Amino acid sequence: MKNRKSLFSAKAAVTAWSLAMSLTGFVAAETPIETVPWNGHVGAVSFTFDDALENQVQNLKPILDEMPDVHVTFFLTNMGNGLQKNAAGFAALAKAGHEIGNHTDTHAHLSGISSNSELEKEIVTFADKIESVMAENGATVRVTSLATPFCENNDQVSAVIDTRHFINRDCGWHGRNEWDVEAKWMSIQAKVWTRSGATVTEMLSSLDTAAFIGDFGNANPWDVSVKGGSWLVVLNHGVTDDTGDDYSINPADIKKLFQHALENDLWTAPFGTIGAYHRAHFIVDKAEKTATENGYTVKWDVPNEHMPESVPLRVKIDTKSVDEKAIVEQDGKILKPESDGTYIIEFMAKVLTVRKPKDGEDNPIAIRATSQINRDYTKFTLFDMNGNNLGSVNGFAVPERFPKGAYIIRAEAKGLSPKIVKVQSK
Ligand SMILES: [Zn+2]
Repeated sequence: MKNRKSLFSAKAAVTAWSLAMSLTGFVAAETPIETVPWNGHVGAVSFTFDDALENQVQNLKPILDEMPDVHVTFFLTNMGNGLQKNAAGFAALAKAGHEIGNHTDTHAHLSGISSNSELEKEIVTFADKIESVMAENGATVRVTSLATPFCENNDQVSAVIDTRHFINRDCGWHGRNEWDVEAKWMSIQAKVWTRSGATVTEMLSSLDTAAFIGDFGNANPWDVSVKGGSWLVVLNHGVTDDTGDDYSINPADIKKLFQHALENDLWTAPFGTIGAYHRAHFIVDKAEKTATENGYTVKWDVPNEHMPESVPLRVKIDTKSVDEKAIVEQDGKILKPESDGTYIIEFMAKVLTVRKPKDGEDNPIAIRATSQINRDYTKFTLFDMNGNNLGSVNGFAVPERFPKGAYIIRAEAKGLSPKIVKVQSK
């Protein structure tokens, strides 16, 4: 009797505990989607190149062609006949995955224009023009971003940009955007490169800050405090060795910046790509679920019809409150979880369903914990910041015998893509 009674109490306790857990789960999961910051990277960077210059095609394209993990943005204008003259080169860059954005027809002083129809000619008509010129040169381009010439902007200008683009780049200050702070989408700040105004060392340091590498305890109080990885937007113009051109950067230097961005594990992608991911997360993460017979649906609105046609988001989804083997669907298609348990969803689909599997239905791949992923790597190699191989280590930690400082660890395993992580030794 004694045994039976204690068994009963234990069962009752377990039942009460499960009930409490499921209630907690229910409350916490009213907004069941949580976007993974910066597409799973520690931070992000967008390099943007203005003015449709010939030396961008001549000197930057060969560098980009060698670096498939770097994608950038070109803001085109017809100033100096730039769009028409270099159309074939920019169409080739578009086909290689780089973004083509709008920098207005005549590189106008927009805040000096008071007529809406004049603004529309510079901004809206020219966006269409870029698309048609690119199409004549064999590239299908959807213009979704603008950059204001001279960074001149005001409410009237922003309102016109907003009718044809989902995001706009201005310039100034440090050019960093934090994950949880919603920016003014029609006035994103950018760090401006000039030979006289910045140094390569300073730019490299900005890429460290974006990757949250460094000690920010003594940061200047007038600067924004750095709490984690961020999205750095960089404004460049020409790419040439001509030191008389203050706005241009040497080809070797821009290559060095690209390489450092990759070493720092920054998501190095176009302005419109990262901007869309960033903007979408504020919506999806707040989207609430509606219960269905066998699970739930989540619906959200797209904030601007001129977002890119596809905006893939890497997200965590509460599936466990529905079923251990719950199925996630969009547009009638079952989404398979990634190896770390996240899902890549399509923001532009505006809806997502989570449901129990039907009888006999194949379940998607079992979810594996992130710790399991780290265990899957079999080989870890330590490098110093100059890329010198310092030998094998046992995991994502620097052995004590090495001096204090920053290192890179490259983890490898059969069937997995290598993971490169920047680490600080203690
Ligand atoms: Zn410009």
